[in-house]
Amino acid sequence: MEVRSRQQSSKGPTRMFTGDVWIDALVGDGDYQRMRVSLVRFSPGARTAWHSHPRGQTLYIVEGRGLVQSRGGQVVEVRAGDVVHTPPGEEHWHGAAPDRFMAHIAMWEVDDAGTGAIWGPHVTDVEYHGQAPAG
Ligand code: MN
Repeated sequence: MEVRSRQQSSKGPTRMFTGDVWIDALVGDGDYQRMRVSLVRFSPGARTAWHSHPRGQTLYIVEGRGLVQSRGGQVVEVRAGDVVHTPPGEEHWHGAAPDRFMAHIAMWEVDDAGTGAIWGPHVTDVEYHGQAPAG
């Protein structure tokens, strides 16, 4: 058994996030072969870039109000207690609502190559606000 106290939070990299995002790795590289778990805190308006997970992902919304969207789907509001399952390979994003903080636990597996997510473009303000692209 090992108790890890007062672990340092790390800032979500700008390549992968818009706005202020802080990540606490609860289960990191080297803890288990495939399982990864993080607590992720988003400030209002902050969100991930578009991305997918080779082996899928489950989110548990711990507090606040958030938004999630799969490519081609509607922007969906989520709140504390909601569970969001994203199947392998499905492009999506997740983040806080425009005027609310949001924290979620993210759970996923890495694939045989050690890849847990494949990152794409940032979510534009137009996409974030749920408007269809012009034209
Ligand atoms: Mn995800």
